[in-house]
Amino acid sequence: MEHLRPKCGGRSTGVISGTGAGLPVAKSNENAYVEAMTAPSPPLARPLKVYLATPRGFCAGVDRAIQIVERAIERYGAPVYVRHEIVHNKHVVDRLKGLGAVFVKELDQCPPDRPVVFSAHGVPKSVPLDAQNRQMFYLDATCPLVSKVHVEAERHHNEGREIILIGHAGHPEVIGTMGQLPEGTVRLIETVEQAREFVPVDPDNLAFVTQTTLSVDDTAEIVGALQARFPSIAVPHKEDICYATTNRQDAVKQVSADCDLVLVIGSAKSSNSQRLVEVALRAGAKGAYLVDDASHVDWAWFDGVEVLGISAGASAPEDLISGLVAAVAARFDAEIIENNGIKETVTFKLPRALTDA
Ligand code: SF4
Repeated sequence: MEHLRPKCGGRSTGVISGTGAGLPVAKSNENAYVEAMTAPSPPLARPLKVYLATPRGFCAGVDRAIQIVERAIERYGAPVYVRHEIVHNKHVVDRLKGLGAVFVKELDQCPPDRPVVFSAHGVPKSVPLDAQNRQMFYLDATCPLVSKVHVEAERHHNEGREIILIGHAGHPEVIGTMGQLPEGTVRLIETVEQAREFVPVDPDNLAFVTQTTLSVDDTAEIVGALQARFPSIAVPHKEDICYATTNRQDAVKQVSADCDLVLVIGSAKSSNSQRLVEVALRAGAKGAYLVDDASHVDWAWFDGVEVLGISAGASAPEDLISGLVAAVAARFDAEIIENNGIKETVTFKLPRALTDA
């Protein structure tokens, strides 16, 4: 663990400084000076231990998706259209809007002569097809780790297996993955109960893939239930839950057992952020909340709190995290301790259209 002191420091200790008996005091300020010197000192800022979970915040897929929009605006000028939120974070979306991005729900809201970017969560196959039919120029910001799941699902389908997708209904990534294959060929399972009740067409010819941002522990339970019933079920070559989701959950687990309260920065729409709150509670935190940013913190949550944990979902920018740390340090005598989590070095290439000279 690395101990850090926040730049803004803890709260004032209440000692009046910069003046003293014998120093000249302007007559008009004399009463105020006497009052200040005799007034009871405000209470000392309460000590608060703050564990900053590492790694946290932006992952390589989110970083790439944001860069795709920024570079597209630089290269082609504004506006650049983006189908759905590029990543699930209002602050990111608002900043990109300020640069000239226009966010839409569907392609028919984009003029055919402007570039359109598909979000990091991935899209059903019908979307790029539709863009081609409309002769639109598009850039696909689907995270390569989501594309890997798409390829895997397609391979199983081509090899004649029935496919189970473990994920959350309605999430854009799930819609995108199910949309890689003809309707009805991918069956969604969300819970262990559903895994126990699932009726396959052929129990000996099954495969599963998963959403990339699930709870590692919940998914292991669902997979366990499926494997107990269908021992020959084909499993992903490499874990579908991505490195960023796994590392952030591990980091939160590491700090939460000692925490009275854990705050996770992230959007309510962000699956991996929601999972971090659940992981914190399961790992022993007495309370855990998801907040968009420091302005959404209810300081009453801090009553009786001596140890705080802070983390952030993969789509939350670091400045929101430092904003929360600063807000905490302004109210408490905060000792910031960063856990020695995995140093992430993953990066993804940008599409060639944005890098070719
Ligand atoms: S959370 Fe994982 S799958 Fe999603 S964008 Fe980040 S790296 Fe890619």
